[in-house]
Parts: sequence; C-alpha cells; structure tokens
Amino acid sequence: MHARPLRRSRFALGLAALILPGLVGCGSARPGSTATPRDTLTPSVTPTASDTPTPTLTPTPTFPVDALVRIDALNVRAGPDTQHPVLEVAARRTPVAIEGRDDSGAWFAVRLPSQIQGWLSADYVELRRDYAGIPTQPTPSPPPSPTATAIPMDPSLPLIALPPVVAQGDPLLVRLRAEDAVQVVAAFDDRQAGFVEVAPGSFAGILSAALDTNPGEQPVYLTVIDDAGNSRTEQIGIRIQNGGYPTEAIELDEELLGLLDPALGDAELARLTEIWSVVTPEKLWQGVWLPPVAGGLSSGFGTLRDYNGGRLSSRHTGLDLRGPTGTAVLAPARGRVALAEALPVRGNCVWLDHGWGVYSGYFHLSEIAVVPGELVEPGARIGAVGATGRVTAPHLHWELRVLGEAANPVQWLMRDVGQVP
Ligand SMILES: [Zn+2]
Repeated sequence: MHARPLRRSRFALGLAALILPGLVGCGSARPGSTATPRDTLTPSVTPTASDTPTPTLTPTPTFPVDALVRIDALNVRAGPDTQHPVLEVAARRTPVAIEGRDDSGAWFAVRLPSQIQGWLSADYVELRRDYAGIPTQPTPSPPPSPTATAIPMDPSLPLIALPPVVAQGDPLLVRLRAEDAVQVVAAFDDRQAGFVEVAPGSFAGILSAALDTNPGEQPVYLTVIDDAGNSRTEQIGIRIQNGGYPTEAIELDEELLGLLDPALGDAELARLTEIWSVVTPEKLWQGVWLPPVAGGLSSGFGTLRDYNGGRLSSRHTGLDLRGPTGTAVLAPARGRVALAEALPVRGNCVWLDHGWGVYSGYFHLSEIAVVPGELVEPGARIGAVGATGRVTAPHLHWELRVLGEAANPVQWLMRDVGQVP
C-alpha cells in the first residue's frame, strides 16, 4: 500500500442524525389517502392557434391516472425497495398507472406514460383511486445487479467520481490525479477528510451522500496543497437522487415509548461519534463484502420510522438482518476492532474500522468474540446475534458509517466500493 504516513485526521461531523436503532419495527401497512374516483387523463388535444406539434409528453389516450408524483424527482425502481436499481426518474405531477402493491403497501407496481414499468414508494404519490382496490402483487425479491445509476466515468480523467450519480445514503469514490500535490483534502456535504495517496500523484477517498442531503447537484471540493504550501481547489459535481425510502408506521406499547426519548442515547452517540471521527489512512479491505449473517432482511436502510402516530420519527440507519439468538456474526471485510463492549441502547456492540473513514457496526449481540485493536479477516466470527440493548426481538442491526454519516451497507455487498480506477 502506497500510503504516505498521514496523521490520523479529524473531520467535522455534519448533522448527526437522530438514531434510534434496534426498536424492531414491524412495518405496518399504511393504506393512506382517501379514495377519489379513478379518473382518466384526457388527451388534452387542444391544438393551439399556431398548431405546433406537441412534443413527447403526450400520454396514450386512455392512460389511467391512478396517482400523481408529488415530489420533484421520484425514482422508479426495478423492485419494491431501495436496493433495486433505478429505471427512471419521474418528475412532479407525472401521471402514474398503478398495477399492484407489495405486501406492506409501501410500494406500488406502476406503469408510466413512457410505458416504463417498475416500483415506486407509495409515500411520494398522491393517490387518486381507491386503495382497497389495488391488488397485492408478487415482488421480485433479490435485488438484481448493481445500481443502474452507476454511469462509469473515463478513468483517464484527472478527477473522477464513481458513480457520479448516487441515491441519498450511497457511497462514492473520488480520485484525483495531481502530480504536484502532497496533500488533498476533500469537502462534501458538510464533512471533510484528507484523501490518501494511492499511487504516485494519485489521491482517493470514499464519501457518501447523507440520508438527508437534498437531491440535486452537490459539489465535492478538493483542496490540493503542494510542497511549497500553495493550494488550489478542484471541484466535481455529484448528482444526488432521492433514495425513495419508505415510511414505516410503528406502534409501541406505552412502556416502550419511554425508550424513544432522544436524550437517552446522547452519551452513547457522542462516544461513537468520537470513534467514527478517526480516519485511518490505510484501506484495510478489498473487494465486495460478505453479508455478516445469512438471514434475510427484516428492515431496510433509510426507512423513516414513524412511532405512535407521529410521537417521534427517525431514520433507520442500517439493515436489520434476521437470525435466531446465537447465530454467528461474521466480519464482512477486513478491519480492526475499534469498539467491543455493552452499550445501553445498542446493546453488546462491535465496531470495525476498515480505514478511509469507513466503519461497520454490529448491535444487540448475545456475545462479543473480539477485543479492541484486533485485526479481523473477512469471515471471522466477531460475535453472535442477540437481543441486547433496546430491542424487542433478536436480530442483527448492521450499520455502516462513512466519515460519521450512515451509508447503505447493501452497496458494499453489491460492488467494490473501494476500487480505485
Ligand atoms: Zn436496525
């Protein structure tokens, strides 16, 4: 590894998202809006005086308007969760024909005027038909291939971002060639970090779009400092897409509601924030990661959890993976144990430092099998699934942090996030 002996650097944390992990949310269906008669989009063929031919946006004459998109850019995906690739981005007020819904009711199977068929989050459409009449549809389960939005960039370019289009919560790799540089500092979305020299004159690092980053173009600034201390700033634009993360309504018993007091986890979060703020310059992992347990997904990344009718809401900052108590939890990639102890909210907890500001966390363990400072290889047993901390049932909450910000772990399972072109 061609690592210049960089000091461990600190970065400024952005808005620390409110975290309430582990309260196992059994997502309940949210039938949502009032039913209005299913109307039809009239072809609105009112030729203007000049009678210019109307371009593209003409829907087919009897396109059923079951719903309208109610945000500026809504991802239409290949399946009913955010792990599926984006097929199309629908603009605000785009008419939507609904052909079915998933089991939870959080996603609709739709057809657009462009005749693209896919799935979109029910939260972001204004329903114009009777919800009860929408049939449940079998869903394509395993997420197919890596993000369709990952447009490859020419590796010969001096400055590249891979991919240049990401969803909220997704990681990206930025690489800069600067022969004269001795140091490169990246700033993105309120966070900054020193990049690592990966080859002579080539610097790289991993950044991620926060879950609450506004969709649209966001700049990454790279400050290049040369031997003489001169600096200049390079810039690349990243397109952030709406993650389309669904909302889960969760009802908790009165006695459990007290656990939602945000102040309860403050000290714990402050402690973890300290850990995440250390950027180890060496990238310890290679390639695509392994799932830490074999069990299926019980709750996805980014879901907005709405507790007891709006008493509190929080983003789910990781994945909940199924597994009975005692199931082995394996290191998904090489890393060094940064923390291994019992915490009040997260229970028995392990955090691995993978380098480059990337950390992975494993919560609610019944057993911890590693000690701080230990270097673990992919597949090493680091603990066992349990129900410690604030949870209602055994499961593994698996979380990834990039420069302190929660990132979607699925990305690391699907592609080599750290591959420098
Ligand atoms: Zn969780």
